[in-house]
Amino acid sequence: MSISRRTAIVSAAAVLAAPALPVISAHAAAPKVGKQVAGFYRFNVGDFEVTALHDGATPYEVNATRFPNAPVEDVIKLMDQQFIPSKPGISPFNTVIVNTGSKLILIDAGFANNGAPTTGQMAANMAAAGISPAQIDTVLISHFHPDHINGLRNKEGQLVYPNAEIIVPSKDVAHYLDEAKMNAAPEAARGAFQVARRVFMPNFKDVKQAEWGKEWMTGITAIQSDGHTPGHTSFVVSSGNKSLLVIGDASNDPRIFARNPDWHLGFDLDKAQAVASRRKLLDMAAADKMQVSFYHAAFPATGYVAKSGAGYDWFPLSYSAAM
Ligand SMILES: [Zn+2]
Repeated sequence: MSISRRTAIVSAAAVLAAPALPVISAHAAAPKVGKQVAGFYRFNVGDFEVTALHDGATPYEVNATRFPNAPVEDVIKLMDQQFIPSKPGISPFNTVIVNTGSKLILIDAGFANNGAPTTGQMAANMAAAGISPAQIDTVLISHFHPDHINGLRNKEGQLVYPNAEIIVPSKDVAHYLDEAKMNAAPEAARGAFQVARRVFMPNFKDVKQAEWGKEWMTGITAIQSDGHTPGHTSFVVSSGNKSLLVIGDASNDPRIFARNPDWHLGFDLDKAQAVASRRKLLDMAAADKMQVSFYHAAFPATGYVAKSGAGYDWFPLSYSAAM
């Protein structure tokens, strides 16, 4: 049944003439959700499919311990200019899974349940991305700091990726699994040694060590980027004529350290060497217009760098529903 034009006009007039009444909804207000959507993001590198995964974030104090050679007020000014929270700063943790078509390769492992309550989100995000830990064939490790290796073994002692071969930089094995070096380290630096022992010692015979300059997996080459740790390794993932540089911690947050590659990060063990590695890799990425994934960038933590003044500008990838 259709409403006649006249009826419609009369009704409209009646509405216009009606006194304004408060709008009362028959439904309750929608409750706020109060939590973020799943942290995974996909993109292609040639024929490889890459899934970026978020493991959470922790706050940090912007101080001279974290930024030992940069005036703290300069760091805060740079953060303010980019609307980055600085009181406290926020350090995110992100990994990538590379599907080569025949293998699922995880690069770095996050915290699992060994970190702060705001970390260890990788398992849920991996599940949301449709990947199960049992499917992971190989885990490549960039270096032995706790935020990168803790996720290999949960707090209960079980391997998180039960079917995976684990490949690690030999120079970090020589450093972090050496008991004499652990005992000689200052008390504050001993935690990283203890985490490395907790994660690797129970089944060290099954862990494969590898060197820089070699293909650790078909299509994934290990690049020397020491300084942050003695064995720190970045990876170039290549398929067809496309490449992705998985830079690891050779540069922390690119909004700060790509802009100022000469700024030291408190966690860099050999600070001069860390600067040299950071510059070498950012130079390569800029010159080759290579996509870069950072461990400590805002999610999905991937994009491009371009030379600008004494440093580099950072252009994060925009969300795309199409792959
Ligand atoms: Zn890290």
